Amino acid sequence: MKSRTKVVVIGGGIAGCSTLYHLTQEGWSDVVLVERNELTSGTTWHSAAQVTNFGMNQTMVGLKTHSINLYKELAEDPDYPINYHHGDGGIRLANT
Ligand SMILES: Cc1cc2nc3c(=O)[nH]c(=O)nc-3n(C[C@H](O)[C@H](O)[C@H](O)COP(=O)(O)OP(=O)(O)OC[C@H]3O[C@@H](n4cnc5c(N)ncnc54)[C@H](O)[C@@H]3O)c2cc1C
Repeated sequence: MKSRTKVVVIGGGIAGCSTLYHLTQEGWSDVVLVERNELTSGTTWHSAAQVTNFGMNQTMVGLKTHSINLYKELAEDPDYPINYHHGDGGIRLANT
C-alpha cells in the first residue's frame, strides 16, 4: 500500500465511493480510499436504494438530480451494468 498520497478518502460507503469516483472523473489520480471492513458494508448496505428527487433545499435537489442522471448513465455502460430502474414522481402519506 502507498505511504504517501494527495488525497485519502476514509470510508467506503456511498459518500466515500462517490467522492473517490468524482475526484477521478475530475482527473485526480493520486487518491486512495481506506475502508476498515468491506466496501459499502456500513449504512449503505442497509439502504433501500431509492433515489428520490425531492429535498429540503436546492443544493440537495441538485445533488439528487445529479445522482439520478449519473445512475442512468452508469446503467447504460455495458462494462459496468447496474440494475437501475427510474420512475418519475412519488407519494408520501402521513396520518397526522
Ligand atoms: C434501513 C435504511 C434504509 C435506507 N434507505 C435509503 C434509501 O432508500 N435512499 C437513500 O438515499 N438513503 C437511504 N438510507 C440512508 C443511506 O443508506 C445513508 O445515508 C448512506 O448509506 C450513508 O452513507 P455513508 O457513506 O455516509 O455512510 P456508510 O455507508 O456508513 O459508510 C461509512 C463507511 O466508513 C467506514 N469507516 C468508518 N470509520 C472508519 C475508519 N476509521 N476507517 C476506515 N473506514 C471507516 C465504515 O466501515 C463504512 O463502510 C437508508 C438507511 C437505512 C439505515
